Amino acid sequence: MDFALSAEQIELRDNVLDFARRGLGGEPEGNAPASVGGFRRDLWERCGEFGILGLPVPGEYGGSGHDMVTTTVAMEALGEGCHDHGLLFSMHAHMWAVVTPIIAFGTPEQRERYLPRLVDGSWVAAHGISEPGSGSDAYSMRARAIKDGDDYILNGTKTFVTNAPVGDLFVVFATVKPERGMWGVTAFLIEKGTPGLSVSRPFKKLGLTTSPMGEVVLDDCRIPVANRLGKEGQGATIFNHSMGWERSCILASQVGRMQQQLDACVRYAKEREQFGKPIGSFQLVAAKIADMKVRLETSRLLLYRAAWQLSRAAEGGAMEAAMAKLYISESAVASALDAVQLHGGYGYMQDFHVEQQLRDSIGGTLYSGTSEIQRMLIARHLGLSPV
Ligand SMILES: Cc1cc2nc3c(=O)[nH]c(=O)nc-3n(C[C@H](O)[C@H](O)[C@H](O)COP(=O)(O)OP(=O)(O)OC[C@H]3O[C@@H](n4cnc5c(N)ncnc54)[C@H](O)[C@@H]3O)c2cc1C
Repeated sequence: MDFALSAEQIELRDNVLDFARRGLGGEPEGNAPASVGGFRRDLWERCGEFGILGLPVPGEYGGSGHDMVTTTVAMEALGEGCHDHGLLFSMHAHMWAVVTPIIAFGTPEQRERYLPRLVDGSWVAAHGISEPGSGSDAYSMRARAIKDGDDYILNGTKTFVTNAPVGDLFVVFATVKPERGMWGVTAFLIEKGTPGLSVSRPFKKLGLTTSPMGEVVLDDCRIPVANRLGKEGQGATIFNHSMGWERSCILASQVGRMQQQLDACVRYAKEREQFGKPIGSFQLVAAKIADMKVRLETSRLLLYRAAWQLSRAAEGGAMEAAMAKLYISESAVASALDAVQLHGGYGYMQDFHVEQQLRDSIGGTLYSGTSEIQRMLIARHLGLSPV
């Protein structure tokens, strides 16, 4: 067993950290007045040019073909250096729920058409499975796809779709055979501008405010069979594949942020004086910082364990992904709360960015399956059948 990064991984991490700090600016919550829902398309394009969006994508489609551990190193560094975690969350949604399934399940034509645009930053992608009436129980969806000659006609509403208001390409799930339950669900690739596809204005939400989210409505939306992703009825397999990647990797940048947060808290605890002493000399304050460090290192171990599993393309890995997702997301909330407390009244003020970290972190316990769902999955892998 070797926990050390290679020389190439260290070089990549340092380059990404430098890019994130200088190329993405220090502004916390996207300030571009012309942006949709605070989303910075200029920064997105810059990330595409730098190579972030193509980290795990094969070279023939414009990516750099890195393995998952190396990709995770880069995504962690990005999270450490960049304050705009809404932007990073949008990138994770794009990479793990659209790019990865196209690589795994797309036809050669679909890969040729979509991957280069998704890698170079010219297109933004979104993934819609949740509906107003079906979230955790995703396969009880009502969206329908009916075959009509060489096309499918889609009807339904998807909600909470990250990137929808700025999306150029959508992976949408609909059922072709409702009587077959999850085995009737099928995935489709829908391009912006397709008649019958519409998206809502960005939702207002608690955190990740620069990652625009909205509703996707399909109203007699006609999709050629060539735009079906995978086979008919393969939607659940594709969704599970995406969730494996998402749960393993989506919080990599959050681990980077926990590092940045810890460093800031240590600095503050040394500088801020009360009762004639630095607050870090009080045991109750020092203990908080020790707890943050342990959460960070445990999160990092679970993250890289899950990424390593993906790199080996090993069967299984679902429990590791669920454990990483659950532990990192809940640790991020706990550490963000500690960081606010440690900064006292300043931690409650927007200028210190600590309150933003708390707001952003809460989403992690909800997206890609809630904490309750992750606990159920872990229990199932241990042979229990929780209901
Ligand atoms: C920031 C963010 C980004 C998102 N991005 C996307 C996206 O890009 N695409 C997309 O399709 N969706 C997206 N979602 C939606 C997300 O996947 C759902 O919110 C999530 O799956 C939960 O579904 P729900 O909100 O309908 O809650 P519900 O499923 O109604 O759950 C409500 C509560 O009940 C609990 N619960 C439900 N079932 C059980 C059970 N069996 N046992 C125990 N507890 C249970 C849940 O854990 C939760 O606490 C996003 C959500 C957020 C917050």
